[in-house]
Amino acid sequence: MARIRLYVDQPLGPSQSLALSRDQAHYLFGVMRLGVGADLLVFNGRDGEWRATVEAASKRGGQIRAEERTRPQMNPPDLWLLFAPIKKARTDFIVEKAAELGAARICPVQTEFTNSERIRRDRLQAHAVEAAEQCGGTFVPEVAELAKLSRVLDDWPGARRLIFCDEALVGATEADLRAATGPVAILIGPEGGFSPTERARIRAHPQALPISLGPRILRADTAAVAALTLWQAGAGDWPGA
Ligand code: SAM
Repeated sequence: MARIRLYVDQPLGPSQSLALSRDQAHYLFGVMRLGVGADLLVFNGRDGEWRATVEAASKRGGQIRAEERTRPQMNPPDLWLLFAPIKKARTDFIVEKAAELGAARICPVQTEFTNSERIRRDRLQAHAVEAAEQCGGTFVPEVAELAKLSRVLDDWPGARRLIFCDEALVGATEADLRAATGPVAILIGPEGGFSPTERARIRAHPQALPISLGPRILRADTAAVAALTLWQAGAGDWPGA
């Protein structure tokens, strides 16, 4: 059976004991039925993955001890995903898939046609943690607060390429993303797409690289997965990229 992987906040090192929160104890001892002496894997997003053993277990808490490192820390490329939040389940899907596919930062942005004006950042961050736990990653992307797209563009960090997934280019020749190396961000619009004003503003951005995702209009969640995959396979950290 695959070992349980748990994300923890604390630093990890040999013989480092870690106190468990109530939720972690409930998961390990109530749901997964681990007992004292059982093995699991832990990571904190900084120190790689460690084998740990359960030292104390109760319904409300417990303690585990890190034993030895099983994998080094592996950070993803400097890839951000900017997306306009859509319906709850589909937004959850985007965050989960972005974490699995190796985004370093996930930034919900409010565009003119964004359907949802609020997000629960803590919930989305918890989805990113769960995705990292299940996919074997040692890194958890940060989910940023919802920010207006216009503000994000005003404060754009100079050197970062902005891969603009533009539905108006549907069917156009696909851009070759292999040249888009270095810090990069992928921008996906909402169900209603981008407004003409937004499109003009993004296209005028010095770092913008407008691209087509093929001959069909994709749903925003499909578009996010497709764009992340295209970039990772061409210029990212996938073997052969
Ligand atoms: N309502 C828009 C329309 O009918 O033209 C479609 C918006 S689409 C559902 C959501 C987002 O996915 C778009 O804003 C864009 O970022 C991305 N997208 C979907 N299909 C695409 C394609 N073929 N090329 C580039 N981007 C695409």
